[in-house]
Amino acid sequence: MQLQPSVGADRQAKSSSSAPTGAPSPKTVGGRASTPGEATTGVACERVMGRVRGQEAGPSLVVVAGIHGNEPAGVEAARRVLLRLAQGDIALRGELVILGGNVAALRTGARYLQRDLNRGWTDDDALRLQTATPGSLQAEDREQAELLAAIEVVRSTARGAVHLADLHTSSAPGVPFVIFGDTLVQRRFVRVFPIPVIIGLVEHVDGVLSEFWSRRGLVTFSVEGGQHEDPRSRDGLEAILWLALSQAGMIATSTPPEVAAATRLLDQRRGDLPRVLDVVSRHSITAADAFVMEPGFRNVHRIPKGCLLAHDRRGEIRASSAGVVVLPLYQKLGSDGFFWALEVSDGQLRISELLRRLPVDALVTLLPGVKRDAAQPRRLEVSTTTGRAKILSLLRLLGYRREKTTGTTSTVERA
Ligand SMILES: [Zn+2]
Repeated sequence: MQLQPSVGADRQAKSSSSAPTGAPSPKTVGGRASTPGEATTGVACERVMGRVRGQEAGPSLVVVAGIHGNEPAGVEAARRVLLRLAQGDIALRGELVILGGNVAALRTGARYLQRDLNRGWTDDDALRLQTATPGSLQAEDREQAELLAAIEVVRSTARGAVHLADLHTSSAPGVPFVIFGDTLVQRRFVRVFPIPVIIGLVEHVDGVLSEFWSRRGLVTFSVEGGQHEDPRSRDGLEAILWLALSQAGMIATSTPPEVAAATRLLDQRRGDLPRVLDVVSRHSITAADAFVMEPGFRNVHRIPKGCLLAHDRRGEIRASSAGVVVLPLYQKLGSDGFFWALEVSDGQLRISELLRRLPVDALVTLLPGVKRDAAQPRRLEVSTTTGRAKILSLLRLLGYRREKTTGTTSTVERA
């Protein structure tokens, strides 16, 4: 389906100055009334909330704010950045484009209308949406088709590398953190953020926006900014955007004080949590497990060995070593009880990056029981029972993190 860019996008594409278009008037910033809990009162925004095209060529940054309609903090954070840029003393090179995520759901404050808009980002779905009869799409299908078209416009008119930031908040309280597909270029990009960056979490979920665009060559990351209604979430997401603009090399003038302030703010929020975490396992559950998480854990929570984490029908679930619990389940629905992560030292990161720059990837099929998928070279099949855990952990080090096991065969895939 051919989608026309919105009026805003069309108007902005013709702008050659670096003054932002679509910037809000001051009275709209932070003007959203709020109610406690999961439901929010809703926020109005356009698909293209703002577009700043610098006179100088350079990288692009696409920001998707509020892909979940009950998460307006990202919309507010992005508006603040646009408002600051509208003052005119910070020139950008390249292009900044702010997109409203689930525009219809944001208006009502619901997470989504018919389905989660941060799922279904697969090649098949993209083809279906792009070839659908104009006007036939409803709710999230329509939102996704419009987002696809808008991001494609940025990609096709880019004058440098294209980055994509996907902004979220959560129902549980916690420190902001970043998740990203484990490629070396994305690892390097997210290290600028002084909050926990979590390797290996995105690979546990299929069909998310960031991974879809990462496979198409964009440098992507997602941020969980904190609890929906906490004003610090909006501040943290704004800080993320300043650091992303700086890290992408898009600030053409001298670095504005917002960048150093952003580092200070996020550094403070991280507290004693590690900078880099590696998800080593997922505690998957079914309804029959009667899984109940112990109360009081935050989204990213350091745990001593032996700590009581949860109960299920078999009894207590305790930490077998020291580590970090990520995204403990406090909602009724879900198949992820929690994720278990370990701190990664700078030394370990350097070793894994060095290994991945060496041509060892070509040698992995020499490992016992490891075969490369002929149709999909990023995918390996591991069909050995002897030493399988060790082989899988070695392959994880090389970036093969998306793992599915059926019986005695595992398939692993890298980003
Ligand atoms: Zn979200």
